Amino acid sequence: MNNSKKIIVTGGAGYIGSHTVIELLSQGYHVTSMDNFSNSSPDVYRRIEAITNQLPETATVDLADKKACLEAFAKHRNAFAVIHFAAFKSVPESVASPIEYYRNNVNSLLNVMEAATEAGIRNIIFSSSCSVYGNINQLPVNENTPFSKAASPYAYTKVIGERILEDYCQIHPEAKGISLRYFNPVGAHPSGLIGELPLDRPNNLVPVITQTAIGKRNQMEIFGFDYPTRDGTCIRDYIHVCDIAAAHVAAIEVQLEQVNYDVINLGSGQGVSVLEAISAFEKVSGKKVNYLRSPRRPGDVEAIYSDSSKAGKILNWTTRYNLEDMMKTAWQWEQNLNNK
Ligand code: UDP
Repeated sequence: MNNSKKIIVTGGAGYIGSHTVIELLSQGYHVTSMDNFSNSSPDVYRRIEAITNQLPETATVDLADKKACLEAFAKHRNAFAVIHFAAFKSVPESVASPIEYYRNNVNSLLNVMEAATEAGIRNIIFSSSCSVYGNINQLPVNENTPFSKAASPYAYTKVIGERILEDYCQIHPEAKGISLRYFNPVGAHPSGLIGELPLDRPNNLVPVITQTAIGKRNQMEIFGFDYPTRDGTCIRDYIHVCDIAAAHVAAIEVQLEQVNYDVINLGSGQGVSVLEAISAFEKVSGKKVNYLRSPRRPGDVEAIYSDSSKAGKILNWTTRYNLEDMMKTAWQWEQNLNNK
């Protein structure tokens, strides 16, 4: 196998990771997924195979365990790139358990970078997040928008992670690092076979909406109706997970050839309030979603959406799915989960 086609994906059984593995396999890459299923299931690999007719190579490894991480990477010397998704990702959980979040997210990144260096892997893509920007008055945000204070420990693990990668690249001129700042990835693969599969009760908006619509919850809470936004609810930039996945392949193909370290926003560029997201869902599903007006959720920022022109220019990438597609595929996935 040509090493320029070998990619290590950490967290390849997770939500964005699994969609990216599908995209990579479909484009002729050889993929090794490293995952410990802390918030996913090995069954995901079988589903990836059903979609692509290919099973990725897999390793069950806790990347926060340095020895295990080094050993796993040593088997993949000179792979072309590592895409590092594996991390804890819940804002409210991170507020409740900051130490666990810092330990897991920072240690895994440090271990992955050391292991990649030892294995001669030069190209690193880091899963970052728009949460690095904190509460911003000037919207949309672009990559040069200065950060305000991170609103949660989760967000701060991404600020630290980006800085670690940037500092690393500075002393490794041969390295190519990119931090991709995701806005709010939602939706599911159009096959209906892969989607977000959190082991615990999900607390992201779209899975909460679909669970409420299907009756797993009697009603959902909307956190905060008193924000100074057009309808009082928070504004986010929702983007289809398959668009995010495609941007990773574009990043590998285009970007890693070019610069030592870069940062790119991945968003749709459209600000959508919580109430607007619920209406879009109701429209495509024909289901009414019961909700309760609840107090603000600690760690939430008021409004954020992306200026994604840099991604368009550098990655030659644009979104293919709109908000209705996001809701449609999320709803299809929820219904399939229930029919299992
Ligand atoms: N949200 C909500 N009810 C829920 C889950 C989320 O009102 O049960 C709101 C949340 O307060 C935020 C938006 O939906 O304003 C997006 O939240 P999510 O957790 O999906 O993403 P993030 O906070 O990371 O942007």
